[in-house]
Amino acid sequence: MSNTDFALAVEDLTVSFDGFKAIDTLTLYIDKNELRVIIGPNGAGKTTLLDLICGKTKASAGSIKFKNTELTKMAEHKRVRLGIGRKFQTPSIYENLSVFQNLEVSYPSGRSVFGALAFKCTDQVKAAVQAVAEDIGLADKLGTEAGLLSHGQKQWLEIGMLLMQEPELLMLDEPIAGMSSRERELTADLLKRICKNRAVIVIEHDMEFVKQIAHKVTVMHQGKILAEGPMEKVQADERVIDVYLGH
Ligand code: ADP
Repeated sequence: MSNTDFALAVEDLTVSFDGFKAIDTLTLYIDKNELRVIIGPNGAGKTTLLDLICGKTKASAGSIKFKNTELTKMAEHKRVRLGIGRKFQTPSIYENLSVFQNLEVSYPSGRSVFGALAFKCTDQVKAAVQAVAEDIGLADKLGTEAGLLSHGQKQWLEIGMLLMQEPELLMLDEPIAGMSSRERELTADLLKRICKNRAVIVIEHDMEFVKQIAHKVTVMHQGKILAEGPMEKVQADERVIDVYLGH
């Protein structure tokens, strides 16, 4: 397969903080409809890798290509426009707006220079809100104030807000943290559904959840990739057991 077949191609990526290499000549390819999970001990560089892909942190060396476009020096907001979505652990939703309004203001044209005030809710926007609400399992909560949702529902709403922008790569940092077991199951279903139309990268510590969702697992250690492949292969790897799974 040539590199042009990948949604994301990260090659020889390096970032140093005061001489310390948090990411060290790392190479990683993600397919278009792949759900990749990144695991590894604390401090391995997982968050920094996602920060580099979304543009929150700038690389010291190496390259990041998304849909064959070089991102490495591109500003964060331009990467969003190109189709890269990132969700952090804490949901950032508008608690006093309804679920519908939260999704509505996330529709790309709502981010005009006049802001949400000048925004007109067209039939096209309504249809997009409805489709995303169904995807995230909140179609019956469109009129509910977001602040009244459960913890899990808030996380799904934020995923929905990102989906409104139709990302082709969605990155999620520990999406099931603090969720009930039922909410975890529903999140697994949601992630499996949304990767049908895009690539998804998830950082996760819960190995049962990883087994449920991952197409492929990347194990990071000291800024490098220690192992990569299907979960069964990775969890049998002695180096992985040694630095991570055995603890
Ligand atoms: P993980 O997400 O795997 O726990 P991180 O990506 O958060 O790991 O961190 C990797 C290493 O890089 C850690 O040693 C961390 O202290 C260091 N690091 C991350 N960001 C910065 C920064 N902005 N300045 C200095 N060191 C950093």
